[in-house]
Amino acid sequence: MDATSDPMIRLSGVGKTYDDGTVAVHELDLEVPRGEVMCLVGPSGCGKSTTLKMINRLIEPTTGRILLDGRDVTDVDPVTLRRGIGYVIQQIGLFPHHTVATNVATVLSLLGTPRAKARERATELLDLVGLDPDLYADRYPAQLSGGQRQRVGVARALAADPPVLLMDEPFGAVDPVVRGRLQEEFRRLQQELHKTVVLVTHDIDEAVTMGDQVAVFATGGRLAQVGTPLEVVARPADDFVADFVGSTTSLRRLRVTPVAAEHLEPLDDVRTGDLAATVDLGVTLEQALTVLLGHDEQVVGVRQGSGFAGVLTPNGIHRALRASLADAS
Ligand code: ADP
Ligand code: MG
Repeated sequence: MDATSDPMIRLSGVGKTYDDGTVAVHELDLEVPRGEVMCLVGPSGCGKSTTLKMINRLIEPTTGRILLDGRDVTDVDPVTLRRGIGYVIQQIGLFPHHTVATNVATVLSLLGTPRAKARERATELLDLVGLDPDLYADRYPAQLSGGQRQRVGVARALAADPPVLLMDEPFGAVDPVVRGRLQEEFRRLQQELHKTVVLVTHDIDEAVTMGDQVAVFATGGRLAQVGTPLEVVARPADDFVADFVGSTTSLRRLRVTPVAAEHLEPLDDVRTGDLAATVDLGVTLEQALTVLLGHDEQVVGVRQGSGFAGVLTPNGIHRALRASLADAS
């Protein structure tokens, strides 16, 4: 059997009942494929953080098994296990009296990486998350904005290049504008790094934007649905999911429906050199609409490889959205 086709993370019948009798997670089966982002989403108290912490053994499950890269996590020493898993939390947990560079290099120091090498890696990572090392490496956490601290948290989690990242409301503590930017940067980063990511959020918009798959949790630690963002938004498994996905469903559909060849019109009268506004085939309708409005144009050229697949008009966007909504009913 090809080991690389196995999921990176597999939870089988995982449950957690706290000592006071609270059932936080109930009989959870979940698989996260290698290199994909799985978003755990649901209302407060539905067991998302507990699930995440069972993967890196900050919390021990009461039932079930968790396999990481085919190995039962209870067979791995918890400290060793956690060094191989990046962990990003909302309150970041940076050491206030250590510089940014030292914070980023925390795990490297623990692993015995020589000081100069660790510093070099910290510099690289700050660059990677969009913080100029010349400006920020020697600052202290209190001298940064919330968004900058969150970037440092991500850089630190990536320091030892772990294959798996666990993120608990990673963008929760910043304002919506910064949040949007951090989400976009993380998506770009993930396209380069292909980590296996489990991301916890209570925000369905964040879940459908960030996830290759979305797992919707209901109260009582019950998994209500797992699927692609489009599946969850278009075909909620039950009333709970339908409710949670919410009343702005039609507009949310823009965000999860990709631009496909059938939505396009031929290039006939347009010379490609005349196309100011262009997107790639497969971007979402929302991205295409944003580009269209941003350029004050009548059409968006849709690239496919080195050529053009056609043009998308406002009518095309409308048709695509109607088709996507009709699919659901
Ligand atoms: P979420 O991250 O989805 O908001 P949590 O996983 O933190 O939810 O919590 C799930 C449930 O378990 C909640 O009812 C919470 O109050 C409870 N819980 C969390 N930690 C503990 C604990 N240490 N002892 C008892 N109950 C807990
Ligand atoms: Mg939580």
